[in-house]
Amino acid sequence: MVPRESKGEDRSMGSNVFDVIVIGGGPAGMIAAGAAGAKGASVALLEKGDTLGVKLSITGKGRCNLAHMEEDPLKLVEPFGKNGRFILSALSRFGVKETLGFFEKRGIEITVERGSRVFPGPGQRSEDVIQALRDFMADGGVKIFTSTQVKSISVRDESEKEVLTDSGLFKASSVIIATGGLSYPETGSTGDGYRWARETGHSIVPTKPAICPIRTKESWCKTLQGLTLKNVELSLWQGGKELARRFGEMLFTHFGVSGPIVMDMAAEVDKALEKGPATMFLDLKPALDRAKLDNRILRDLKEHPREILKNGLKDLLPRAIIPVVLEVAGVDGSTKVDEVTKDQRASLVEVLKAMPLTPVDLLGYRWAVVTKGGVSLKDVNPKTMESKRVPGLFFAGEVLDLNGPTGGYNLQICWSSGFISGEEAADRAML
Ligand SMILES: Cc1cc2nc3c(=O)[nH]c(=O)nc-3n(C[C@H](O)[C@H](O)[C@H](O)COP(=O)(O)OP(=O)(O)OC[C@H]3O[C@@H](n4cnc5c(N)ncnc54)[C@H](O)[C@@H]3O)c2cc1C
Repeated sequence: MVPRESKGEDRSMGSNVFDVIVIGGGPAGMIAAGAAGAKGASVALLEKGDTLGVKLSITGKGRCNLAHMEEDPLKLVEPFGKNGRFILSALSRFGVKETLGFFEKRGIEITVERGSRVFPGPGQRSEDVIQALRDFMADGGVKIFTSTQVKSISVRDESEKEVLTDSGLFKASSVIIATGGLSYPETGSTGDGYRWARETGHSIVPTKPAICPIRTKESWCKTLQGLTLKNVELSLWQGGKELARRFGEMLFTHFGVSGPIVMDMAAEVDKALEKGPATMFLDLKPALDRAKLDNRILRDLKEHPREILKNGLKDLLPRAIIPVVLEVAGVDGSTKVDEVTKDQRASLVEVLKAMPLTPVDLLGYRWAVVTKGGVSLKDVNPKTMESKRVPGLFFAGEVLDLNGPTGGYNLQICWSSGFISGEEAADRAML
């Protein structure tokens, strides 16, 4: 569904001088533009796509996991690692409570689901979140220029910046760069903001795909393509040391593995692979220890005394995975159930508890939920989101070197950094 047009949308070029220019019509850019408009600044939002919030529209499989229900800011920033503290100041002004209040005021019902994930209420979707942001921008009189690609930014001085687009030159005192990262480039996020940041003297922490499917060496993954496993456990090991562990849902694909627990482990896998080979182990029955699992297999086999082993396991496992488990365990699936030996059962148990998967690399930006790295936080004032190098230049959202796990964390960064940058950019422009 294409979002409804806001009253302020403007494809014509009238006066092109504004207090604040926001580059990028994603979540960070839209809330920043609205916040600047609410302060009374004249605001232009420049978006290269023909509509706003393309990536936002596909978040949470179209339902938009818009925040993470954790009101303690210290706990909220923990999963961001050492960079998390950067956002604390913005959270104290526009945190989870303020975010939820903001959307509720604009007609979004708030529901909290498993894992403290915040979604819009029943019947509402990402498009409703986008409409709420459009309403906010319309209230603030924001002029929206879609199909307008920014080519370059020139800093004349503290209070004059020129933004060259494919449809002409715009000028403003404050400019907010909210162009996102490099992931899912077909949504418009092609990393342009990094280039302008670099050109204006900012450091860029090298970028990498994060929250991403993983390519594996095992060719059997392809034969299981499309199979989803629930309530399984994946662990990551290197040099005899466990580096990570996740419980939940995963999926096999033609290139390897994907799904929530895989995507969440991707950053740790990537880090490990930088050092050398690593192995993931899949526990297909985490609720049963080895002895209980062996008993369970015995019981199942007794219930099918006249079957061959392959068929005797059908109550324990999804059908598709049985031949793979047998092959990895080196056990012949055509063995008669009443002839299965203790050693064969032991091999099966071993594979069911620790099926090895060899990660090769992450699948890449095209399939990554977020980008790791970005504009160095050392160059940005955490209280205002203003550049420490170029007064009047601000950064918001994923373009910053700040990325969290799935669960609504990344959009919270957009709302908090976006809102604060908008207010501050407006204040600076109207000094
Ligand atoms: C499949 C998927 C699902 C996700 N689900 C969730 C979720 O449920 N919860 C969550 O918290 N996070 C989720 N994320 C992450 C979240 O979508 C991003 O963190 C967020 O969209 C980043 O917002 P942003 O405004 O910084 O950048 P973006 O959303 O990337 O927006 C940047 C905008 O800038 C525009 N732009 C870029 N260059 C230019 C230019 N030169 N001129 C003009 N405009 C330009 C782009 O066209 C784009 O519209 C998901 C991501 C993906 C890919």
